[in-house]
Amino acid sequence: MRIDVVSIFPEYLAPLELSLIGKARQDGLLELNVHDLRSFTTDRHRTVDDTPYGGGAGMVMKPEPWAQALESVAGAGMDSKPVLIVPSPAGEKFNQALAYELAEEQQLVFACGRYEGIDERVIDWAQDHFTVRPVSLGDYVLNGGEVAVLAMVEAIGRLLPGVVGNPESLVEESHSDGLLEYPVYTKPSAWRDHDVPPVLLSGNHGKIAQWRRHEQFRRTAERRPDLMEGLDAGVLSRADRQAL
Ligand code: SAM
Repeated sequence: MRIDVVSIFPEYLAPLELSLIGKARQDGLLELNVHDLRSFTTDRHRTVDDTPYGGGAGMVMKPEPWAQALESVAGAGMDSKPVLIVPSPAGEKFNQALAYELAEEQQLVFACGRYEGIDERVIDWAQDHFTVRPVSLGDYVLNGGEVAVLAMVEAIGRLLPGVVGNPESLVEESHSDGLLEYPVYTKPSAWRDHDVPPVLLSGNHGKIAQWRRHEQFRRTAERRPDLMEGLDAGVLSRADRQAL
């Protein structure tokens, strides 16, 4: 997969050189390029923003540097249009299902907004060159798209083949089947008056699996009742339905 990120703060994306994503880049599993939007300006001050039409507080990102930047990163010779992800609190909400969907793409381009956001005509114009998806990290407002991109690239990147050493660890994670993950423990079995649940020390794999599944339901119902409501009946086993 190829990922291009356009930002006025390219340094903000430096953590993508670390850990599993950094290693995936080194190993050639992921090509990731960060571009400075200001290098696509033509004036002496490298201006990327201006006052909003209609008045109001704040500044708006000018369309021309964005068009220049996006034209330069739109991959030629790709089988399909690249996906342009525009982080925005006014976008569809990012979740694990969307991470899986985006992990199938050949090229993702992220356009990090700042100030009051990007001139809306960029979004309209870009439809001819990209599949455009405004995406929100959650119902709150950040100062810019960079933090959202760090989160999305990590969530998508770890789903690419070979990035996570043991692919089985992806299967049992929170949100992979609509439920939260069960609690996990390591040694020592007794710690500061808190013991590991005895079933995990029993060696009985059937019982352990049953306990973990039960804990998934218990946790999800307690912490995220909204997920329980949206649970797809098709993914539930008979034992699950009895546990509910
Ligand atoms: N005026 C915009 C609004 O109310 O929808 C908010 C602009 S925000 C201060 C600046 C930039 O931060 C946005 O263009 C977007 O790139 C990013 N951003 C802010 N909150 C975000 C969120 N929840 N998810 C993704 N990106 C966000």
